[in-house]
Parts: sequence; C-alpha cells; structure tokens
Amino acid sequence: MELWQTLHGQAVSQVAAAVADVLLVAYAIYRVLLLIRGTRAVSVLAGLFLLVAVDLVARLLGLSTLDWLVGSFLTYGLAFGLVVVFQDEIRRGLARLGNNRLFGRLDRAAGMDAIDDVVRAAEAMAARRIGALIVLERTADLADYADTGVRIDARLSRELLESVFQPGGTLHDGAAIVAGNRLVAARCILPSAWRPSERQLGTRHLAALGLSEEVDAPAVVVSEERGEMALAVGGRLHRPLDGTSLRRFLHRLFAPPPRAGTSFWRPRKRPASIPPEPAPSPAGAPAASAPAPAASVPAPAASVPAPAASVQ
Ligand code: ATP
Ligand code: MG
Repeated sequence: MELWQTLHGQAVSQVAAAVADVLLVAYAIYRVLLLIRGTRAVSVLAGLFLLVAVDLVARLLGLSTLDWLVGSFLTYGLAFGLVVVFQDEIRRGLARLGNNRLFGRLDRAAGMDAIDDVVRAAEAMAARRIGALIVLERTADLADYADTGVRIDARLSRELLESVFQPGGTLHDGAAIVAGNRLVAARCILPSAWRPSERQLGTRHLAALGLSEEVDAPAVVVSEERGEMALAVGGRLHRPLDGTSLRRFLHRLFAPPPRAGTSFWRPRKRPASIPPEPAPSPAGAPAASAPAPAASVPAPAASVPAPAASVQ
C-alpha cells in the first residue's frame, strides 16, 4: 500500500513537471512570435521552417545528397545566420525582456479614431505646404524608432500634430510616431530606403519607404515641395492621395482582421487589407505622371471601395 502511494505520488509530480515544462516552452515560443510579428523576421522564420521540411522529406525519401546539403546548412550556417538576421530582434528582445510592450497593446478602436486626426492634420498641412512624416503603429513594436526622437506620449489630436510639424519648431524635423490614439514621439529618424530606381524621391519619402520595408507600420508623408499626401506601406509608396483615399487606405489597414489568430502569419509586405498592385510601379514616379483622380484603381479586397487616388 505504501509502495503504491509512493509510486502514485511520483507519477503525479512527473506529470505536473511535464505539463509545466510544455507550458513554459509554449509561452516562450508565444513571446518570441509576439516579438517578431509584423517584422521581416517572420519571413525568415517561414523560410527556416521550409528548409527543415525539405530536410525531413529528403531524409524520408532517402535523398542523401540533398539531406547532406540542407542538413549542413541547418547545422553550421544557421546559428551565425540567425544572429545576423535577427540582430535587431535579439537586441530589442533582450532590452525588453520581462517588460510589457512599450506602448501597450494596440487598441484598434483608438487607432481608428486617430486616423481621422492624422488625415485631417495631413490635409491641412498639405494645403499649407508644410512637410510632415507620421508613422502609425500596427503590430510591430516601434520603440526602437521612437528612441531616436523625443518622447511625447500625449493624447493625439489634429492640432497637436500640426503644431509638431510647424516649420521652425523644435520638433518639426523627422517623423512623428503614433500608437493607438497617442502621439508617442516626434523628431524620430527612420531608416532610409535608397534605390537607384527612386533617385527622384527626396529623403522624407525615402525614409517613409524604408520604414515600411522594415515593419508593418504605414507612414503618411506630406510633401512640402508639392503640397501632396502619400502613404508608404509594405515597401510601396502610394501617391498622390487625397484625404478620402488616405482615410480609406488607413481604415483598411487598421480594420479588424477577418479571422482571429490569422494576423500573425499575414505577409508583412502585402497586408491582406491592401489590394494587389497593378502593373505600373508608383514609387518614384513623378507626381505629374500619376494625377490623383486618374490613377489606376485596383479592385478592393473587401467591400470597402477603392480609394479614388490609389496607385497600388
Ligand atoms: P518634400 O516633398 O517635403 O520636399 P522630400 O521627400 O523631397 O520631401 P526632403 O525635401 O529631403 O524630402 O525632406 C527633408 C526632411 O525630411 C528633413 O528635414 C526631415 O524632416 C525629413 N527626413 C529626411 N530623412 C529622414 C529620416 N531618415 N527620418 C525621418 N525624417 C527624415
Ligand atoms: Mg524635398
């Protein structure tokens, strides 16, 4: 009887340890996925899973050379490659280990409210030819970019945005970062995307493009030279846009995902809510070649009508 109780006690503690083990590993994986979602690391991870799948299939089918090749890469090249590719994420992850998300979880409702302030401010600034660059946080954490500027953390309003970009003001240079209905930071430096094909784009537009290539946050650009509005998203520049088009684009980007749990693996470069691009590439095209009302309009993905001036 005593022996049975001892064995029973051991079995229970072993099961409890196994359950705790599995839960901890699952939680660790969940945190890593949260950290990298919306960034290019998701694509890298997908590629990695593909390689592992190829290796498994090669092993099952007895394709020894392929198995050796992929296996060698996975063994030797991977550790080094992962550190290089994920250096930003590793740095960010270590810095924020144990902390909650800096800006709090994105409140989609607040984000939708903020769109109206952003669009109205952009329209007013475009009319007065005041340059501006406004980034709206989606799923990827923008803390690293906010760190390059001046923290503000104030409730967003059209007036606040306009005063930030007031020429001559101390905060007007660089980009403003918006998360939910908060203006998180201003005067931020974004990564620039320089390509020979976009020689004619100025640094403000290149910065918007560069940011949108790295994370899933859209960047609204107001050109002081042309008094036009543009939107960089997924490495593409949509311009020129009128207020209605910009609002529709942003509403679609911030609309709730169609099904819970699918946003994680949604390709960053082509968010589901943005319609596919037609043949001519808008990025870098001279403004005159893409007049707002006449620009090509692809069929919208959902029931939302396509923006009048959409160029993607
Ligand atoms: P515009 O059409 O308004 O003239 P542009 O694309 O031609 O814009 P510039 O004229 O070079 O670009 O705009 C310069 C301004 O863009 C800078 O004063 C700064 O506010 C902003 N800017 C440039 N590079 C960056 C960057 N990497 N990150 C954030 N803001 C930037
Ligand atoms: Mg310029």
